[in-house]
Amino acid sequence: MAPPEYDAVDTNEELIAWSREYCRTVRRERGVDVRFDLVEWAVSTRAKRRAAAVERPTLPDAKVGDPYDWDSVPGADGRPLPCTVSLTRAAFESFDRSEWEATLRHELIHVEQYQRDGTTGHGPAFRRRAAALDTDVHCPAFADPKYVLTCRDCGGLVARRYRDCKLVRERERYRSDCCGAGLALARGPE
Ligand SMILES: [Zn+2]
Ligand SMILES: [Zn+2]
Repeated sequence: MAPPEYDAVDTNEELIAWSREYCRTVRRERGVDVRFDLVEWAVSTRAKRRAAAVERPTLPDAKVGDPYDWDSVPGADGRPLPCTVSLTRAAFESFDRSEWEATLRHELIHVEQYQRDGTTGHGPAFRRRAAALDTDVHCPAFADPKYVLTCRDCGGLVARRYRDCKLVRERERYRSDCCGAGLALARGPE
């Protein structure tokens, strides 16, 4: 499917399509050495602290910085075994675009390392790549939002906020985009 605009991402399929396309752009523009035909994508809707993760097989004797002998893996035909980039839906919801893009660049480094070395970690090699790709060394985590505003009519999510802001304080003055209805505070300290 053709990737949607970032602001139009709705379904999990669209989240994958957008994220995959972004990663292809990063590979093209920044020279990341990744084979996307050997990458699978998934969206996790379970509650997690990590914004995304690369799920991969554990390989004997794999070491970061040491190109892995994929010929030694039965059935691999000398190619890296597939790995899965798992995207956490709630992280996408709570991050802004630049945070989400940085998350994807972080995971791309894991894929690059894994496909070359058979494993990946946050050591010095990762740090150098993270600096080159302008992303964090630590796996991006996210917190539960303090406030969740929903539509009074349909119950749909309107906004998550991490701090008391105007939208939270003056929510009586706002209307939902979906139904033009008032906003309910579905989660908050009050
Ligand atoms: Zn990481
Ligand atoms: Zn609504």
